[in-house]
Amino acid sequence: MIDTHIHADSRSGEDFKEMYLAGINTAITCSFYPYKIEHEMILLNHLNRILELDTARANEYGLDLKVALGIHPANSNINPEIIFENLYEWIETKQIVAIGEIGLEDLTENEIAIFKKQLDIADETKSKVIIHTPRKNKKEVLKEIIEIIPQHLDESQAVIDHINPHVIEDAVNTDCMLGLTVQPQKMEKEDAIAILDEYGFERFLLNSDISNKASDPLSVPKTVRELERLGYDKNNINKVSHENGEKFFRLNTF
Ligand SMILES: [Zn+2]
Repeated sequence: MIDTHIHADSRSGEDFKEMYLAGINTAITCSFYPYKIEHEMILLNHLNRILELDTARANEYGLDLKVALGIHPANSNINPEIIFENLYEWIETKQIVAIGEIGLEDLTENEIAIFKKQLDIADETKSKVIIHTPRKNKKEVLKEIIEIIPQHLDESQAVIDHINPHVIEDAVNTDCMLGLTVQPQKMEKEDAIAILDEYGFERFLLNSDISNKASDPLSVPKTVRELERLGYDKNNINKVSHENGEKFFRLNTF
């Protein structure tokens, strides 16, 4: 299985061990610095820590940790230039599988400018992007995101994440991949399964988004096992369990 969106920097080795034992081979860890950022070097340090330290920590427990780096909208009150420069380098050296997570949160001018620039970098370097949608004002912010993406990047290079039953109708008409985050207080596995049941398994990626907020490191295996218990077609289950993620992010892990 692949968990396509986690925050490994805020989780313990015990979580990685549980995830591995439950059948997760690979996880993609995304950048988000949960504390105050007074200088862009703090963010750069966070990104380098993910790249160097967290990948090694996860590997110790058997978990293959792939990395997505970028400027999360909640971290956009910085001078972003040094991060942009580093993004080109990480992409060039194939150290990251996507730019992420990026996106919009409060629709500030800074956020929008940094989001657009990162889409441009993705377009220029033919990279994938993982796009965050917020808890509050999800519908309104998603609308803005869906309007901006095709002006900068081919939709097929983007995954719009944290899609739930309230906004699925708005996202399903794009050519983007869609991320279903099964997480306490956000979305139950039953809701994710209802979406898959209605819209098919082709376009969706599953993830836990484990972070320093309420989290379940096993939400992907729990959802996959529930699909099996309910008798869904094995080929379809394989798509959301690992094939879609493997194909989209071009991972050579299986
Ligand atoms: Zn996240």
